[in-house]
Amino acid sequence: MLLPLTRPAAARLLSGVRRALAVALFAAAAGWLLARRAAVEPQAAPPAVPIAPQPAIAVSSPPDAGSEAPAPPVPAARPLPPTSDRFCLSDGASESYVVHFTPGRFVAEQANRRLRALSEASSLRVRWASAAMRAGRGAIGLNPAQRAIALLALEPASYSDSAARDLRASADTDPALWMKLFQVEIARGREAEADDAARRAYRLAPDEPAPAFVFAQRARFDVSPEPAIAALDTYLTRGEKLPAVSRAKALLEVQRDIQAGWPSLEQHGVSVAWSREVMDESRARQLARSVEAALDDAARTTGTPRRPRLSVFVYPGHEELLAVTCVRSWSEAVYDGALRLVGRAGAESPDARTVRHETLHAQLRAAGPALPTWFHEGLATVFAGETGRPVRARWSDMVRNRTWIPFASLDDSFQAFDGRDDAGLAYAQSAAMVRWMVDAGGDGAVARAVAMFGRGMNAEQVLAAVLGRGRVDGGALVEWLAARNP
Ligand SMILES: [Zn+2]
Repeated sequence: MLLPLTRPAAARLLSGVRRALAVALFAAAAGWLLARRAAVEPQAAPPAVPIAPQPAIAVSSPPDAGSEAPAPPVPAARPLPPTSDRFCLSDGASESYVVHFTPGRFVAEQANRRLRALSEASSLRVRWASAAMRAGRGAIGLNPAQRAIALLALEPASYSDSAARDLRASADTDPALWMKLFQVEIARGREAEADDAARRAYRLAPDEPAPAFVFAQRARFDVSPEPAIAALDTYLTRGEKLPAVSRAKALLEVQRDIQAGWPSLEQHGVSVAWSREVMDESRARQLARSVEAALDDAARTTGTPRRPRLSVFVYPGHEELLAVTCVRSWSEAVYDGALRLVGRAGAESPDARTVRHETLHAQLRAAGPALPTWFHEGLATVFAGETGRPVRARWSDMVRNRTWIPFASLDDSFQAFDGRDDAGLAYAQSAAMVRWMVDAGGDGAVARAVAMFGRGMNAEQVLAAVLGRGRVDGGALVEWLAARNP
């Protein structure tokens, strides 16, 4: 298939043929028809396009699982925008609203317009160029319209490194090519490049619903929610009136109201917005520096490229955090695409270990493959040094009672654990599993595990490979704990 077109798009194309025949010279029309035949052959709907993966909610360990310090006093409740809880789903997960949108539609429509520009060019040359790019070779000697068509015609998943480079070099002021690049980089797992492409496409075509939508997907985690709100508004008025998109916009409006008047700063890609009730600027700068350092560390530990940007919000209380994220009540910090923390006036604010824990999630979710929750949480707990007395006490319980949570139950969100006790055990066992890997595989074990998950291996396979065992289960984990920590 050379170029995916929608049926309505193909119909528009046919009416274009009639117009062209009426007004154009025979030679131009014939060239156009050649291009059209090459382009619409399959008459298929645009392929399903991978949408930017939505980061699963990652929640910090419950206070008693990590910190040995006494829990700080809970601040008094404060009034919130009355509608804030309307957007929370019953299971406590945050709204994930990107489900049925394909930027491919926009790209295909733009491609139809391009075909007109091609009417005086040879479509054979473009076909040859597409084939060359698909095979990973460069295509030279094309005019800009030919190059654009050749690049638009490739499936996102079939882009070689050189074709992706060509696409980036050709995109220039063309929103369709930036949208295509967005799809391509998502398919290649390049979050930062996808983010950049989505932002450029929107800047070039701010009134088009598709670029507005992909921009909002990225910008909703920016320090200022206004641009994302405006983009979702464009989508709702010019695109589809999807209820989920309306809810997402309303949730961002709650966030805007909560952080009205907050100061913000940016250093080395880390942006911080904070409530003056709990922090001054020098503290905010300190926080930005610790997040930067933790990001560098996390990138090294996991063998992943350091994410170029991260937003950090410091809320004056738990209620505000709940209002913008809808997480369960024991959470004191969240990474949901942005790092959201509760500050405490006077105290070390927010807790340094919590910051490191959540920053590890932020780095790994942006730069790494999808990973089981136990690996994420266990690594974050170990990375943040949260294996103090409460965690060690749970390890002793596991040894004494010979109990463990089945590994498969730790693959999905820990939000499913009802009480603080169950969640605490899940975090403690996950941390033990990561320690076990590092104990057996050395310092590089974590990065090797991330790479193996990236190649599609499952948790059992990765554990077995790193531990050098044929089979691993909870019993073997408890034996290791007993030998290490009797
Ligand atoms: Zn966590």
